[in-house]
Amino acid sequence: MATVLVVEDEQALALLLKYNLEKEGYEVLIESKGNKVLGVVEKNCPSLILLDWMLPELSGVEICKLIRSKPDLKNIPIIMLTAKGQEEDKVKGLNAGADDYVTKPFSVPELMARVRTNMRRAPEIMTVKELSYEDIRIDLVQKKVFRGENSVHLGPTEFRLLKILVEHPGQVFSREYLLKTVWGANIYVESRTIDVHIRRLRKALNEYGPDFIRTVRATGYSIDKNEIEE
Ligand code: CA
Repeated sequence: MATVLVVEDEQALALLLKYNLEKEGYEVLIESKGNKVLGVVEKNCPSLILLDWMLPELSGVEICKLIRSKPDLKNIPIIMLTAKGQEEDKVKGLNAGADDYVTKPFSVPELMARVRTNMRRAPEIMTVKELSYEDIRIDLVQKKVFRGENSVHLGPTEFRLLKILVEHPGQVFSREYLLKTVWGANIYVESRTIDVHIRRLRKALNEYGPDFIRTVRATGYSIDKNEIEE
């Protein structure tokens, strides 16, 4: 079932949207605070986002830019909802990366039609449903990791790190590349932070088997069972 995230601080409107989207067969999540949206998107990876322009904490345009800066979230269709009907605002919204733009007040059937269209137009976000390396298996749909028969519990950052490594076994990734890909280009994170998350990833994975994560001195990390050095 496709999930739609409704980001709207007017509760009555959010509930109206939820009711109508559920009638269309979608699963619906509601978030009212701008600064919480990115976390919700990362956790649930919705199939589409209805995003209100005027929100407390962080505006719809800022949220849109933030989501678009994340490599693994940038393909999620976003429809902006706004009371502003000005052409320049529409351009601003679309420039920020929104796929479509609906002005309040809108007709519910029209908005539902836009949701369907944008949902269809969305590229297949997950063509690959599973990745694996040796006995490590990543279920990309459920966002779960297994080692043999064991379920490995990873935080979202460790999950993304592992995914990058497993996608290209043997390839060494620099700390800078991992930082840019996992945290996004515009967010300042100290490069040693990577080491902390790699340590957590190792600890979780190695509970059920040998260490396949290779530290390449002064360079970065790879996943490679053949040559493990510290
Ligand atoms: Ca609002």
